[in-house]
Amino acid sequence: MQTTVGVLALQGDVREHVHALENVGARAVPVRRTSELDAVDALVIPGGESTTIDKLLRAFELFEPVRQRLRAGMPAYGSCAGMILLADRVIGGIEGQQTLGGIDVTVRRNAFGRQVDSFESDLSVDGVEGPLHAVFIRAPWVEEVGPAASVVGRVEGGPAAGRIVAVRQGPLLASSFHPEVTGDTRVHRLFVEIVRES
Ligand code: GLN
Repeated sequence: MQTTVGVLALQGDVREHVHALENVGARAVPVRRTSELDAVDALVIPGGESTTIDKLLRAFELFEPVRQRLRAGMPAYGSCAGMILLADRVIGGIEGQQTLGGIDVTVRRNAFGRQVDSFESDLSVDGVEGPLHAVFIRAPWVEEVGPAASVVGRVEGGPAAGRIVAVRQGPLLASSFHPEVTGDTRVHRLFVEIVRES
């Protein structure tokens, strides 16, 4: 049976994720309501603005349903703002900002600072063969990793060398960067493999 992956379509670069998922052979559908969430095997949470996505999740009455699916083991991949939403803890959030949680990490929003607000860098990610060209746009980094989560990618050069930018916990994967904007589908392929295994 073909794997159906939802892309949370409240805000952010939804179309790019849909294309990347289709390119690696998954069926990709936008998710804006609970009936659509119920029909997917897994969920991608795109980049955008985590504070806005958080508010819209609650406005669309999706916050609790998504959280429950995550708790029940639904695989999910979050890029950038999506990584913030999948993190158990966030530093630098706005007043009242909540995350869906699931990955035992603390992320820092807009972590790279003004000078390196947006940048590109080659790095490697466990489970992806060869170097990956990573695009960071006002990205978070992972400041602290709890025992349940694993680091799968770090910045490899420049002023932010060593910073953790990709993590995994079971069927949950998150990256600070945006693989959906480069036309390189290897991270989506890795995620779809994780979905099929689980
Ligand atoms: N800075 C954004 C946030 O805090 C994330 C940026 C992005 O997703 N490109 O949500």
